[in-house]
Amino acid sequence: MNKVLLVTGGSRGIGAATALLAAQNGWSVAVNYTANSLAADEVVRQIRGTGGNAIAVQADVADEAQVMRMYEHIDAKLGRLSGLVNNAGVVDVYARVADMSVARLKRMFDINVIGSIVCAREALRRMSTLYGGEGGSIVNVSSAAARLGSPGQYVDYASAKGAIDAFTLGLAKEVAAEGVRVNAVRPGLIDTDIHASGGLPNRVKDLQHLVPMQRGGTADEVAQSIVWLLSDAASYTTMSLIDVSGGR
Ligand code: NDP
Repeated sequence: MNKVLLVTGGSRGIGAATALLAAQNGWSVAVNYTANSLAADEVVRQIRGTGGNAIAVQADVADEAQVMRMYEHIDAKLGRLSGLVNNAGVVDVYARVADMSVARLKRMFDINVIGSIVCAREALRRMSTLYGGEGGSIVNVSSAAARLGSPGQYVDYASAKGAIDAFTLGLAKEVAAEGVRVNAVRPGLIDTDIHASGGLPNRVKDLQHLVPMQRGGTADEVAQSIVWLLSDAASYTTMSLIDVSGGR
């Protein structure tokens, strides 16, 4: 099978680590980004530099028209998709629910939840045997926040990731007989740019004492689980939520 993979938010952090590792494992990778074309181009350059196949594709996953255009571009440049990593995601600054605006909530759910569901919808139209596809694998990037709730930090983010967990369980059962496996990873505190984007560049250092392993994780440690879930080595694994959180 031509192994074509889309990693949303593949330009930085966990997505970039996943794109690089997947390419090493023989996937042709579409590296999605929304704004940082330089970072996406650098991931593509690294993949091609080691003999792999990759393209960068711009789309805001919260914008359906942009998602549709992204998939058409991947169809034309790489061929039929057989893997999707729904990784693009955002946090916001720490706030209590009593202070959250509707604009904040809409952004949080549009990107983290609706974006993931629309990307999965388009993937299914290409992978599911019901649509003439040859099967495939979807990995949703949830968060330990879905279990912890993130009180006083971002309960909205935790709620969005809770929705991703439910989406994973339901979709996995819905398409299990159509050759498509659906799983999620739930990373804990991982050292990426996302914390600075929420106004807390030292968040991992500040909170690592709460982790039983007493340290933050790396993007590559999360990528290892994602790429395993994508692979045939995980052929009987679907509807699983894998915690990659140092015991937290
Ligand atoms: P980063 O902030 O390091 O990277 C985010 C990536 O998502 C970038 O590639 C960015 O693109 C892309 N992105 C952001 N918004 C959109 C959008 N609307 N459409 C398309 N792409 C978008 O994040 P992380 O690597 O830390 O996080 C990746 C995933 O892991 C997220 O879903 C996050 O919730 C989850 N996670 C992270 C944890 C952590 O501690 N880091 C813990 C638990 C879960 P661009 O470069 O163009 O900005």
